[in-house]
Amino acid sequence: MAKRVSTRKIKKHRLYGYDEAGAALGVTAHTVRLWRSSGLSVMTASTPHYILGAELIRYIDEKQAKKSVKMALDQMYCFKCRAPQKPLWGMVDYVPVNDTRGRLTGLCEACEGGLQRFVGKGDLVKFGQIYEITIKGMS
Ligand SMILES: [Zn+2]
Repeated sequence: MAKRVSTRKIKKHRLYGYDEAGAALGVTAHTVRLWRSSGLSVMTASTPHYILGAELIRYIDEKQAKKSVKMALDQMYCFKCRAPQKPLWGMVDYVPVNDTRGRLTGLCEACEGGLQRFVGKGDLVKFGQIYEITIKGMS
């Protein structure tokens, strides 16, 4: 199964081709191409295609966060801190993804970056006891 990918060799402000990105991350160029279908943003306006280093780091962090980070009930994942954090003032928005699930979003207490956590709609009661939740309309 998938091993843990390290982004240590990725430079934020560099542009990477599929081959270069793969080499820096220790995966194949094919794997990097596949990531496009699961949310990696690739600059496709011209060929060859490029991926910004910062986007590679964001994508991999997010992917691994979903797998590995155990969060306390009152924590959400901060992409800037790359760690679970508490939302500023305990205020979050609930953005429905579909009828049963949605995202809680808020601002990080530590860095004021964006926080996110996927939750089931049925968990809103539980989270409502911790956070002040503003429910957003279906988009
Ligand atoms: Zn943060």
